[in-house]
Amino acid sequence: MDHDLIVEQLLDRCKCFIENILQASDLHSVATASRAIFAQLREVAYEVLQAKMTLEAPQLERADVAPCCPNTRARYLHTRLVSPQTLCGRVHIPVRTFLCRGCGVSLRPDDRHLGVPEVGDLTDEVRALYAPVVAEQPHRAANDLFHRCTGVALSSRGAQGIIESTAQDLQRWQAEHEGQEATAGAAALGSGDDVSELRVEMAMDGVMAHIDGRWQEAKVGTILGRRYVGVLGSAEELAVRRTQMIREAGWEHLPLGEIVRDGAPWIWTVAEAHFPGVRQTLDYDHRSEHLDDFAQLLYPHNPAGAKAWVDQKLGALLKNQVGEVLRALKRMRPWKQALCDALAQLIGYVQRNRTRIRSQEPWQCGLAVGSGAVEGACKHVIQRRFKRVGMRWKPPGFLHVFAWRLARLHGTFQAFWASRGLAIQTPG
Ligand SMILES: [Zn+2]
Repeated sequence: MDHDLIVEQLLDRCKCFIENILQASDLHSVATASRAIFAQLREVAYEVLQAKMTLEAPQLERADVAPCCPNTRARYLHTRLVSPQTLCGRVHIPVRTFLCRGCGVSLRPDDRHLGVPEVGDLTDEVRALYAPVVAEQPHRAANDLFHRCTGVALSSRGAQGIIESTAQDLQRWQAEHEGQEATAGAAALGSGDDVSELRVEMAMDGVMAHIDGRWQEAKVGTILGRRYVGVLGSAEELAVRRTQMIREAGWEHLPLGEIVRDGAPWIWTVAEAHFPGVRQTLDYDHRSEHLDDFAQLLYPHNPAGAKAWVDQKLGALLKNQVGEVLRALKRMRPWKQALCDALAQLIGYVQRNRTRIRSQEPWQCGLAVGSGAVEGACKHVIQRRFKRVGMRWKPPGFLHVFAWRLARLHGTFQAFWASRGLAIQTPG
């Protein structure tokens, strides 16, 4: 169709739209007028988009050289209309198919150029908007929210398709960009940091989610609170992934320091097996938690006394006086059975972790991260989305959304959409 003719028709359509609104006798209030404008604007937008695609398609280059076989010509087969779902509605786009004369493969070079989705029928901008919604909300709620905000109704199968195809695209993109990631990782350390002072600090944590009919532990690890890795599997897998991540980030030349929390025993097992000789440090928050718990029993009606007791013990631990603290604890002779039991537990805890309670050297280099970061990640990545009441998961869906949420944490998701020309605008 002729460009000028299309413009003229669209201008007529816009004029109609404006007249309809201005002359409508029932749109007195700002709210009703605004809603009517919004609804009609969608229709106009749809027509503009359809016109744009109608004009774009004939401009495509002749695709007579096959990309798969050098110096081989491709034969034009046919042109078909595809109708992907966009934010403006379903548009119809003519797409050509060619046949490689060399290997016989059928080729659709227009797909990439025109942004026709390879998998499913939802265009990128729909997926980019839907992804963060379903990363936070269960499907049904996500679809409902999405429909209200964008006017695009997704079937539950459509939603499933977005999750799968986006997770696959993201994975492919991440694999292709490992090199760039390494550069970005090295840059993330910042030019102001003295590299000789740096250690790679790591933290790990796990959380249970109901997947495939049973409770399983999803594990998350972080390095410097800047990169996160998650697995639904053994602690071994997590350790392997983290070693990979250190390499990808270009940090393998940095000395390793280790901060791990006193949670599951697997954390220590992994630390011993995969990072032998690396310092193991008990997280500060956790040791103070254990002391706090005991102090509450010791001084049930005297919060100030409890606090003073904890501060004194923490201070001694910070000065590496673990032996003194242990001796002081062992000298205590509480007369209540509950207190006796709690004391025995506390002593056991300090003894078990004796070598992990040290002065907080890593904290002084300014880059260390407590297990707070990884626990934050666990809460943010897993608990908020995966541990809702009655929520049950299947492994593929769980892993896809898990990967998304991790990717959002380190900004890969944003970079992924930006690489497809869809930089995500964040408010503020
Ligand atoms: Zn070929």
